[in-house]
Amino acid sequence: MRLLLVEDDSLLGDGIRAGLRQSGYTVDWLKDGRAAQLALESEPYDLMVLDLGLPRVSGLDLLKWLRERGAELPVLILTARDTVQDRVNGLDCGADDYLVKPFDLDELAARLRALLRRRSGRAEPLLRHGELVLDPASHEVKMADRKVDLSSREYAILLVLLENRGRIQSREQLEHSLYGWDGEVESNAVEVHIHHLRRKLGSELIRTVRGVGYVIEKDRQ
Ligand code: CA
Repeated sequence: MRLLLVEDDSLLGDGIRAGLRQSGYTVDWLKDGRAAQLALESEPYDLMVLDLGLPRVSGLDLLKWLRERGAELPVLILTARDTVQDRVNGLDCGADDYLVKPFDLDELAARLRALLRRRSGRAEPLLRHGELVLDPASHEVKMADRKVDLSSREYAILLVLLENRGRIQSREQLEHSLYGWDGEVESNAVEVHIHHLRRKLGSELIRTVRGVGYVIEKDRQ
């Protein structure tokens, strides 16, 4: 899952980025609202964590702009200003949730999982597909009640495919969700991870759509 973090405080941003990477997100971190606007115009994100007090374009203005464009990206706002009005404004401008600084990283991660659940219209915290069960909180994957060990990148690809069941994910999209801006993309990396996933979870689960990408079909619940 690829996440845009917009936070101008270096220390805090660094901590949040490290924590969210630990939780398995690919994090792109920007420190001003204008840079975030540019990134949002060109990059597909799954989530945004947005500070309100930002240079150049404020968090609230960025949020208004985003919603005016019809973007459904789930947004959690961070605010140091613990006033009711701030939070009300943020939510009314289209934020999906908020946290008041200082906050606990575990709580942030849990709230982001809840936002992803809501986006895909499920109340159930576990992702189930036939005999496959993925727990986004513990990162545990089970097949027919047996634990399956996946590398962090295999897990990340499986999560994207399960969250987007029925929608073909291009190799490029999967690469972006693995590497963001920072990592160097190894050639054929996605193919290699898919190969390993098939070996561990069965060859039927992930379908290759030639020349387009990969998909887990929607039919099984
Ligand atoms: Ca700030």
